Amino acid sequence: MAAGREFDYDLFVIGGGSGGVRAARVAAGHGARVGIAEEYRFGGTCVIRGCVPKKLLVYASRFADEFEDAAGFGWSVGEPRFNWPGLIAAKDREIARLESVYRDNLQKAGVALHSTRAILRDAHTVHLPSEQRDVSAEKILIATGGQPVLDRRIPGIEHAITSNEIFHLERLPERIAVVGGGYIALEFACLLQGLGSAVTLVYRGEEILRGFDGDLRRHLHRALSARGVDVRVRSNVTRIDRGPRGLECELGDGTTLLADQVLYAIGRDPNTAGLGLEHAGVELGWNGHVVVDEYSRSSAPHIFAVGDVTDRVALTPVAIREGHAFADTEFGGRSAPVDHELIPTAVFTTPELGTVGLTETAARERCRAVDIYCSVFRPLKATLSGRNEPALVKLVVDADSGRVLGVHLLGPDAAEMIQLAAIPLRMGATKADFDATMAVHPTLAEELVTMRAPVQRVSETDGG
Ligand code: FAD
Ligand code: NDP
Repeated sequence: MAAGREFDYDLFVIGGGSGGVRAARVAAGHGARVGIAEEYRFGGTCVIRGCVPKKLLVYASRFADEFEDAAGFGWSVGEPRFNWPGLIAAKDREIARLESVYRDNLQKAGVALHSTRAILRDAHTVHLPSEQRDVSAEKILIATGGQPVLDRRIPGIEHAITSNEIFHLERLPERIAVVGGGYIALEFACLLQGLGSAVTLVYRGEEILRGFDGDLRRHLHRALSARGVDVRVRSNVTRIDRGPRGLECELGDGTTLLADQVLYAIGRDPNTAGLGLEHAGVELGWNGHVVVDEYSRSSAPHIFAVGDVTDRVALTPVAIREGHAFADTEFGGRSAPVDHELIPTAVFTTPELGTVGLTETAARERCRAVDIYCSVFRPLKATLSGRNEPALVKLVVDADSGRVLGVHLLGPDAAEMIQLAAIPLRMGATKADFDATMAVHPTLAEELVTMRAPVQRVSETDGG
């Protein structure tokens, strides 16, 4: 490690979220002198107002199903009541605990914590406004993440909230309009519906979750509608007014939607504005993200970026892996680029969605012939509960090599299952390997290894 003693730090990390914290700890473990600045709360988006609190709310929302389903199994449950402030207070306690764990772990690793915004003055100097001083570092890591986007062209957009605010509402909205058709819109539409809100999802496109496998998109849409979410596709909000009956959302078709809250979940922008990157010659991309190579190197020597502030895959494990690989490469003497292929992911709707690898459409574009194995079935638990919500298991297979290219799941525990399915996919497993694996019975996952005949073979000549 080439530690420049003329600098205050060997590494200064801007942003105490998933990527920054991991990079700081690992670099310190390799012997580097590391400082880290966080302007809000250590832990970042995932811990403070993303994955973790979101999943806690998802758990809360699913009790509604459990109470309902219990009757089919002989239980009688009294009238369930839900207490939003109680849930939010419990969630806040857990998040505060986690935040202190993040701080402690950084301190134990020997990292110097700065609770302040950080701004670049030049390629080696960082200004810390709350401490009213500058520090210098041989290397700087930008790990500032992203923030929710609002469409400022919509009159009345100031009445809308984003995922940042939803975690702190004083009361559960009776009626909520959710704008967007991606991860956050769907997860919140679902969990709020489960907790008792009347939810309308307003999505501009033809079908929710663009980029996911078509069967998953259609089945999830159907399941949400069946659960009572009013899913409106090819729809958009054109203005928002506060009226006597609540927030009045004017829609593109001229109708008005009444709501107590309007949640915008239309993507996130990288946090690079006002960061002073121009003083250090760091190249930014189309939406302000830091342009990096496979080693997370920016265009400026000694400045690096990981996580959501780059235009790669905006998921926590990816930010963590990028931060770790950066620290190993720069301070651990181990060259470690990150492989962004075959990243498994889940959407924590109810039913839950898990996916890894190619969608059917993508596979058709790449392969001469593709075999589709797909099973849509009623899970065993639903036989007694009476719940009429099918699960879906789908394999996309290269017909020539037999290699499994994609696994797509919808149903209980899909997120847990897709984590495991991603391992054989990365190892290049074939459909024959899946078939040779003994089933675990009775489970939902056994469908992965018991689908014998393809429901469809699509080849080049099928034209699409
Ligand atoms: P962040 O975690 O955003 O950390 C960046 C930090 O930098 C922030 O704490 C910020 O305050 C700080 N910062 C910014 N500018 C400065 C500055 N100038 N000075 C000092 N500090 C600064 N991903 C999943 O994998 N699974 C999920 O279930 C999931 N759910 C999500 C749910 C929601 C509602 C949201 C919004 C995101 C979710 N994500 C999920 C995405 C995940 O949270 C991000 O991909 C991840 O947090 C990115 O990590 P990061 O280190 O790049 O940035
Ligand atoms: P997404 O990119 O997932 O979805 C954005 C949605 O908003 C899309 O449906 C998009 O439509 C729509 N949209 C974009 N611009 C507009 C506009 N001007 N007006 C109306 N609709 C618009 O972003 P999210 O905000 O949901 O989440 C950000 C990221 O955070 C995710 O991409 C994901 O990487 C991460 N995340 C991961 C989670 C997980 O792992 N479970 C959970 C939550 C977030 P179109 O498709 O037509 O472009």
